[in-house]
Order: sequence, then C-alpha cells, then structure tokens
Amino acid sequence: MFQSEYLKKVYAGVEARNPGEKEFLQAVREVLESLEPVVAANPKLQEQGVLERIVEPERQIFFRVSWVDDKGQVQVNRGYRVQFNSAIGPYKGGIRLHPSVNASVIKFLGFEQIFKNSLTGLPIGGGKGGSDFDPKGKSDLEIMRFCQSFMTELAKHIGADTDVPAGDIGTGAREIGYMYGQYKRLRNEFTGVLTGKGLTYGGSLARKEATGFGLCYFVDEMLRCMKGESFKGKIAVISGSGNVAIYANQKATELGAKVVAMSDSNGYVYDPNGIDLAVVKQIKEVERGRIKEYAARVKGAEYHEGCSGIWTIKCDIALPCATQNEINEESAKTLVKNGVIAVGEGANMPSTPEAIATFQNAGVLFAPAKASNAGGVATSALEMSQNSQRLSWTFEEVDAKLKNIMVNIFHNAYNAAEKYGMKGNLVAGANIAGFEKVADAMLAQGIAY
Ligand code: NDP
Repeated sequence: MFQSEYLKKVYAGVEARNPGEKEFLQAVREVLESLEPVVAANPKLQEQGVLERIVEPERQIFFRVSWVDDKGQVQVNRGYRVQFNSAIGPYKGGIRLHPSVNASVIKFLGFEQIFKNSLTGLPIGGGKGGSDFDPKGKSDLEIMRFCQSFMTELAKHIGADTDVPAGDIGTGAREIGYMYGQYKRLRNEFTGVLTGKGLTYGGSLARKEATGFGLCYFVDEMLRCMKGESFKGKIAVISGSGNVAIYANQKATELGAKVVAMSDSNGYVYDPNGIDLAVVKQIKEVERGRIKEYAARVKGAEYHEGCSGIWTIKCDIALPCATQNEINEESAKTLVKNGVIAVGEGANMPSTPEAIATFQNAGVLFAPAKASNAGGVATSALEMSQNSQRLSWTFEEVDAKLKNIMVNIFHNAYNAAEKYGMKGNLVAGANIAGFEKVADAMLAQGIAY
C-alpha cells in the first residue's frame, strides 16, 4: 500500500481511468510504490503534476487492420500504437503480434518502456504497439498481407525522429521486413523508421542477439558484485524458445553455465546433458516448429506438457524469457526451495508481484526486466545511430557497447537503490534511476496549456 497521499491519489486516478486493465495497473503500481522516497524528497514532482502526467500516454492509436487470407476470406484484427512518453527522445518500443494483445497489455509494455529506455542512457522515449493477430500457422503470404495492412495505418503516425517501432513477441526479421517495405512504398523514403531490420537494408549486427546477451551481461555483473559469483558451473533454466531465450542460452553457455530446460507456450523440454542449442535454432528459427520436437531428436531429453512445470526443475539461475506473469508465487517458492541463487528477467514483467516478494524475502538476487532486458532496445538505439550516420559497425563494436551499457545499468540501479535506503533492491533502483531522468526532462520542458 502507498504511504504518500499524493501517490494514493495518483494511483486511484489510474484505476478509475483504466478499469479492468490488470497488466497496466500492475506495472503502474510497482513503479509508483518504488517512488515513495523520491516523491517525499522532491516536492516539485507533486507541484508540477509529474506523476499524473507520466501515467497517462501522450497519445494512443487504435485501428482496424483488415487483410485477406489464403482462402480469399476477409479477416479483421485490431492494431495498437501507444506513444507513451517523449520527454527524452522519440517514442521507441516493439510491436507485439499475439492473440493475447489488448489495450492493457500494450499500455503496460509502453509504460515500462519509458523507464527501461531511460536506463539505457540513450535518447529514446517510451512507446509500444501490436495487434491481436496470431502469426502461428499463417502462410508467408498471409503474414505479408497482414503486415502491409498494419503498416498502411501505422505509417501515418511514426517516423525516424518521431516514433521508431521494433520487434517483440511474434514480430521477428520477417515481419519487420514486410512492414519496412510497405513504409518505404508509402512514404518514398529510406530512413531508420524501424529497428531489427535485416542486415542488407540497415539492420545492426548483434541486434538479434542483444536482448539475450544483454540479460546475461547484467546477471553476470549482478552475480559478481552482489555475491562474488558468476555463471561458471551453474545450472540454468530458461523459459521460452524465441529470440530472447535462444540468445540468453547462447551467452549463458559461453559464460560457463549449463542450460537444462527451455519451453514454448505448449510445454517444456528437460535435457540433463545441457540443451543442444543448434537443435533448438533449427526447430524454432528455421522450421518454425514446436519445442516438443527437441525431445524426439535428442537422446535423453524429456518433453512435458504445460509451461509452468519448467520452474520445478532444480537450478541455480532462472531466466524467464517467454511472457508476462509466467512465474507466480507458487513457482517462485519452488525455485527458492530448490536453491535458486539468481533470477534474471528476460521477458517483460514475467514475475508476479508475489513472486518478486518471495525472491526478495529469500535473499535471491533479482534482476527486474526493465533493467536486465534493456539490451534489446539499447541496441535498437545503436541501430538508429548507425542509420543516421549511414555507417555499419562491426559485431564486436556493437557487442562491446551493449556490454558496457548493461554493466552501467546494473550500477545505476544498484546505486539508486542504495541512495534511497533500499540497498540491493534492484526493482526499486531500476524504477528510480529510470524515472529521475525522465522526470527531470519533463520538469525542464514545462506543461502544455
Ligand atoms: P518470440 O516471439 O521470439 O518468443 C516468445 C517465446 O515465448 C516463444 O517461445 C513463445 O512460445 C513463448 N510465449 C509467448 N507467449 C507465451 C505465453 N502466453 N505463454 C507461454 N509462452 C509464451 O518473442 P521474444 O523472444 O522477442 O520475446 C520474449 C519476451 O521478451 C517478451 O516478454 C518480450 O516483450 C520480451 N522482450 C523482447 C525483446 C526483443 O528484443 N525481442 C526486448 C525486450 C523484451 P510460442 O512460440 O509457443 O508462442
């Protein structure tokens, strides 16, 4: 519960204005709770209505996306773009294509993105978009028609200096390519309006790897500074088997861990010998198949139906890299009982508030998403820089910048928590460090009458 009357009032306003939007309310509550000491120390925030403003998106665009499927039938989906906050730079955030997408999900992601983007130290504001379109089981042509229709409306609202979308769940290189092609056709300009592009038309080396690699750089620094430990010799469990999960597996393995389990939305595979990542890449990146097939191809591996069972596997390090609220209190308790020492969030908001409290009360090192998965958007911002310069940096250059950014984010979050008397609480530290810069920029830019 909130101590400050001001925060109580702000949160009540958000509840009244966004009824039933549980993901959005969850994300707002977590941030506001962390800001208690900041609000107490800075009366200007209340005088200038900074919190009332920061919880309300600057602009929300909801639109119809109609397209024709392979049978010639008309399909209708809903498109979203929430331009949440542009205090420190153009709106930046991915496009999620998944049947679970709704206004609450896009708003929670857009809100989180404000603080995450600020933490990177790069000049990018917060936004997010998506659609309830389900890419699973669709042909390439159906995907193309959907992406073209989606971009036909979205193109009116974005631009290289206005709003720069990227990938997220269901939006990978193929979808970004179709969207970019349509944007170019409509506007007749070749600009860095999307990130996550293919390498032949302005994409950045290491962008594909960035979120998973960045997560491991963050967790490695956290282990080193807070426990004198590292990935070496540790057993890791990683949920998901998409972009973030695959490259988290690759880096965790390079740093000396053995990853024994991965999943998708149907179930998980357990391989006591360590997951053979080449097999996962073949199934997921090439064939677009299901993780179940791993157990059929690799001797000694087991497949289990259902996602949450993955958290019953004994491990030292847990990296949730699938979706929001995938670790609940019960799963968190099981992980703690099995001796987990660190949890690093690769997905956005994968742990429920009760799960986070369980980890923190048990002394488990906990890396919150908005800090630990910021490597993806940071590298997207590096892609924007390369596009503006009309230059391409080497993989090693981008990777070195990414590592440096992740290490800095860890220290900024750690120091902010310590400054406000919450040493070791990276959830609070990340929220505060991300917030301070945005709030300062909002104060400087005044209120529009
Ligand atoms: P992908 O679409 O590449 O992969 C998502 C993975 O999560 C798949 O294995 C998918 O399984 C699984 N998944 C999706 N929805 C659910 C669900 N409701 N229940 C269980 N499993 C599910 O997405 P990404 O790897 O890009 O994104 C994963 C997470 O990381 C998301 O939370 C995203 O917002 C976050 N993130 C991504 C960034 C990026 O750069 N890509 C940057 C920062 C955060 P299935 O194939 O069966 O759907």
